[in-house]
Amino acid sequence: MDRNLDNYIVENYQKAMDYHYIQAFFQPVIRTLSCKLCSFEALARWVDPNIGMIFPNEFIPVLERIHAIHLLDICIIKQVCARIKYAISNDEPVIPISVNLSRLNFTLCDIFSIADDIVSEFQIPHNLIYFEITESIVAENKELMFDTVEKFRKAGYQIWMDDFGSAYSSLNILKDFFFDELKLDMGFLHPFNQRSQRIATSIIEMAKSIYIHTLAEGVETEEQFTYLRNIGCEKVQGYFFGKPLPYEQTLQHLQNKGITIEIPHDRKYYDKIGQIDLLSSVPFMSSSERDAISSAKRLNSIPLALIENTKNSFKILFYNTAFKNTASNTGMFLITLNPEILLQPIAYDFLSDKIVNLMDYTRSNTDGKMNFASNRDYYEIQAKCISKTHDKYCVMLKLSNLSKDAQASNIEHLNEFLKHIYSIFERIVLIDVENDSITPLYISTKENLLSSNYNLKNLALEFADKYIFPDDKAEFLKFLNKDDVLKQFSKTANTFFMKFFRTSIRHGQYAWKAYTILKISQDKYLLMTGNVHNIVIDFDKYTMKKHSDTFSPELLWRNLVQSGIIRLFWKDIDRRFVGASQAFLDYYGFESLNDIVGKNDEDLGWHIHPDKYMNDELKVINEGITTHNIPGWCINDGENKEILASKTPFYDENGTIKGLLGYFIDRELLTVNDVRGKDIKKRDMLTGLLNSRGINEEAYVFRDEYYLRGIDFVRIHISINNIHSINEHYGFDYGDKLLSLMGKALKKSFGRNCAVGRYAGHKFAVLHQTQNHEDAHGLRIKIKDIASSIREIDDVPVTLYLSVGFAFFSEFLDLEKQNQNAELRLLDDNK
Ligand code: C2E
Ligand code: CA
Ligand code: CA
Repeated sequence: MDRNLDNYIVENYQKAMDYHYIQAFFQPVIRTLSCKLCSFEALARWVDPNIGMIFPNEFIPVLERIHAIHLLDICIIKQVCARIKYAISNDEPVIPISVNLSRLNFTLCDIFSIADDIVSEFQIPHNLIYFEITESIVAENKELMFDTVEKFRKAGYQIWMDDFGSAYSSLNILKDFFFDELKLDMGFLHPFNQRSQRIATSIIEMAKSIYIHTLAEGVETEEQFTYLRNIGCEKVQGYFFGKPLPYEQTLQHLQNKGITIEIPHDRKYYDKIGQIDLLSSVPFMSSSERDAISSAKRLNSIPLALIENTKNSFKILFYNTAFKNTASNTGMFLITLNPEILLQPIAYDFLSDKIVNLMDYTRSNTDGKMNFASNRDYYEIQAKCISKTHDKYCVMLKLSNLSKDAQASNIEHLNEFLKHIYSIFERIVLIDVENDSITPLYISTKENLLSSNYNLKNLALEFADKYIFPDDKAEFLKFLNKDDVLKQFSKTANTFFMKFFRTSIRHGQYAWKAYTILKISQDKYLLMTGNVHNIVIDFDKYTMKKHSDTFSPELLWRNLVQSGIIRLFWKDIDRRFVGASQAFLDYYGFESLNDIVGKNDEDLGWHIHPDKYMNDELKVINEGITTHNIPGWCINDGENKEILASKTPFYDENGTIKGLLGYFIDRELLTVNDVRGKDIKKRDMLTGLLNSRGINEEAYVFRDEYYLRGIDFVRIHISINNIHSINEHYGFDYGDKLLSLMGKALKKSFGRNCAVGRYAGHKFAVLHQTQNHEDAHGLRIKIKDIASSIREIDDVPVTLYLSVGFAFFSEFLDLEKQNQNAELRLLDDNK
């Protein structure tokens, strides 16, 4: 190396750090399955005003030699935290960043404490910073490293192993250390030939088998990317997606390439999918089953695909060649599988209904299976829900051609004739009246229910409850009533009866299905279920009979809507108002329906946190869920009023969701005639804790104790400082969950002898009897421990930053002053 440059570095590094000549550049890390940006790696650059750019391989060895390398890492960690903080404060998308830790850090300083202090100083959630350490460091000083790595991981940071495979000791280290992610050294891809491919493949496979995530570095070509994606490597980084650049430039570069940013909720979702070993012969087994047969031979020819389902469309995340070949004969997809369609949203019309139903079924039941016939072959399709978020879920499909599979059982029972029937009916069940038993012969969906050992009556009841549209339930039960069935057949010479019932299909939607009972012998019947569009039906018979009574539904409805007693509203599928009752209009002071029809809540500017209501309404519309008394706020008459809203899907005659129907009540009104009214007013709905009024009333009791028995008490104010950014980035639903978890945790720790309340949005108060003012320190630690016990909500990691303020009653001998001072000290602590 250049002696002069060395000297220059030694003489100037301190200045370069002080003047920000040494900067973090950022290189994107891309998720292979979604092609989205999932993190950055921070890489140091020395942009010198005199001699231009100096690269790490030039200055790092020098800094190492003079034992100044930890200063570099600290400088980069600070810059990274500052950048993340900036994103959080400015409501930019927040992108996790990995930083490199040099080997000498571990002997020159207590790198964990230093790094953790910096992160805390900036109040950065721990899950947003990953630390990379190279395997060679680990090998050198195992004991020390073990402790440090554990400290980082315990505190909620991910630790990645960098340059995996570049030193001799890699595999051995994996045995003893728990890393979150392996970064495959770029050496594996250069040269990129069959030999290197095979090695990379088996490393990925090995990593998955010990539950470590995988990232390949140095990806320079599309060929490398496609290969890595196909073998299940979860992330990639390299010049193909972008070189390290200053933050804004990297973002711009990604935007130019059309690469978007992964949202926090998707991180865990894809991490779960990434754990699947796509090359395994046994991907459908649970990990324990798989462990038991770890020696199983692998067959890379199992047809596998990963399908991501959203409400209106699906995306193919992955398929292998075997899947493409098998699926192409089945008519399952009405599109040809090719790399271009990967990740593209495709309408469900392009996928056979049966498979859509099967996938939907796995969403709540994890596993499902069905058989179908196509082009003279029988197929079995196995489905397993791998991962889900509130708006999507991913299903792994395994397709087998049973006709080709010599080992498949039952195959001999299937003949040409049955095949035909199978394509018409999605479910065929044998009913044995004599033994009151049911045997499923062929099921494509919802099999678990039908295969259990119920008698006819219980089965019909359970099925009706779960799957039949409420209006049709009574008739469905009658249709399957044993005595009625027998009577029907004895009365006439018919050998079958058919009826139509609206049956649940997916996302709370219903569809008309034809149910046929076919008599095959004196006490044996087949119950066959099919889709209506396969069979011509006469719907007239099933439309609702008009009530001629005085109390017709129409009149009842009209009276109700005009009555002024209930605040009803109904909205279309886009959440726009279609109508509302008079009471609703009166409450808001609208002249007429015209003021609201066609508008949604956001147009009306009602809620301070509109997305909370939006999410609830989307759940009702998309998933068919009914919500009850959800507390919320809405602006009315210049006041932010607390209301409780309930919403339910609005179905049309065919059981299709066409919108929603809802009503709400005023929180305040609840208390008017309620004997518990006083108590309700003292309680906070969200957490169930005391509210500010409740806690203040409780304080009187504590005060009296002070005067009666001389027992002092402390008023502790606790606030979650980063709640605003948590709400911004994860939504108000998430923020609410956090608050209620925090409330629960506080109650659990203090609830037995203290009063615990939430006196403002993100602020909690505890009244605690204690004589000793030194206890405050112990209490502070206890409270911080409570906060760090909350690590994850809905699978999304979270870090809480708290401020705490203490005020003893004996200091002020006045409740109001005590309260004010607790608040002032809380604010001080925040600073
Ligand atoms: P690394 O951690 O393995 O970082 C990856 C290096 O590979 C980076 O070089 C990056 O620019 C380069 N690279 C990324 N994609 C490609 C690609 O597709 N093809 C090729 N040929 N190269 C690619 P860089 O930035 O020069 O860093 C070199 C090494 O210096 C890093 O290797 C890391 O060990 C060290 N380093 C960089 N910044 C820091 C730092 O802040 N602290 C510490 N301790 N070490 C650092
Ligand atoms: Ca690195
Ligand atoms: Ca590396």
